[in-house]
Amino acid sequence: MELLTIGAFARAARLSPKALRLYDELGLLRPAAVDADTGYRYYDPAQLDRARLVAWMRRVGLPLARIRELAELPGPEAAEAITAWMAEAEAELAARGRLADFLVDYLTGKGAPMSDTHATLGLRFAAGTAQGRVRETHQDHAYAGSTLLAVADGGGPHGDQAAAAAVDAFCSLQPELASLEQGVRAAEAAVRALPSEGDAPFTTLTALVWSGSRIGVAHIGDSRAYLLRGGELSRFTDDHSYVQQLVDAGELPAAEALTHPERPLLVRALGASGEADISLRTALPGDRYLLCTDGLWAVVPGLAELLTGTDPQATVDRLLAAADDAGAPDNIACVVADVVAV
Ligand code: MG
Repeated sequence: MELLTIGAFARAARLSPKALRLYDELGLLRPAAVDADTGYRYYDPAQLDRARLVAWMRRVGLPLARIRELAELPGPEAAEAITAWMAEAEAELAARGRLADFLVDYLTGKGAPMSDTHATLGLRFAAGTAQGRVRETHQDHAYAGSTLLAVADGGGPHGDQAAAAAVDAFCSLQPELASLEQGVRAAEAAVRALPSEGDAPFTTLTALVWSGSRIGVAHIGDSRAYLLRGGELSRFTDDHSYVQQLVDAGELPAAEALTHPERPLLVRALGASGEADISLRTALPGDRYLLCTDGLWAVVPGLAELLTGTDPQATVDRLLAAADDAGAPDNIACVVADVVAV
């Protein structure tokens, strides 16, 4: 066996001697021999693969402890572990990006600035749900309070519990604008703690957190949040659904989304996969907010008209009645909240 000096080995591995000394100190790659007198390190050419592998893993950004572990694994197992680690790293980065966006919005006071008149704003609210005429279970859930509004549409086994657990966990944490992300994590943990029967329970969650004139939005799935302002109804959540993906990709005309057979299929939900969208809005006196599950929006046309002219409770009753008139093929949950000067 012909050993190489550290210089020759470094050239062959396209690494610096300094990097090799570091790998030795970190226990990632020990030299084949060390001269007892001079301390010079010698390497076996058979160690080249390991040196290149370690260097590559360092460039990927794997932590040293992970590299030590992975370098010992057979190729396919190491590959699997690296793929899993990258997915984790990407999810973490995405979560950090959303938090950063949120913070930037918050710091730049996006939207109307808070003024003294806004400091005296409050919410008037009502919530309601109905099982509908067709479904044998009721898996929708709604909550409305002076600082929190939420709807959830459960699915899978114990879908009813999933929706209730998500809303309860989110609301009992009393999240504020800066802790929406924690609220969503608590809701997700509550859903994942439920028993599963082969299939795991899952749920949508669309929640608003109210703070002065600011509203934080946490949203995952295909329940929706709308704003009625100055007589105009606009939606400010995206559907995390298969058909919406098709529409976004230009593979399905938007007009056909509602009648597509896969319309209820979700691509993101608590307990299943995907992250919640977190955003921040500014409320104005006179704003009316509607949160609802697909049992309302996919069934009842003319929401703007139904939302006009009555107080929150009467409006919720009217919306549930409209869904019933339309055959109520799905469970329904809705929340109506008005921003009012107190
Ligand atoms: Mg539904």
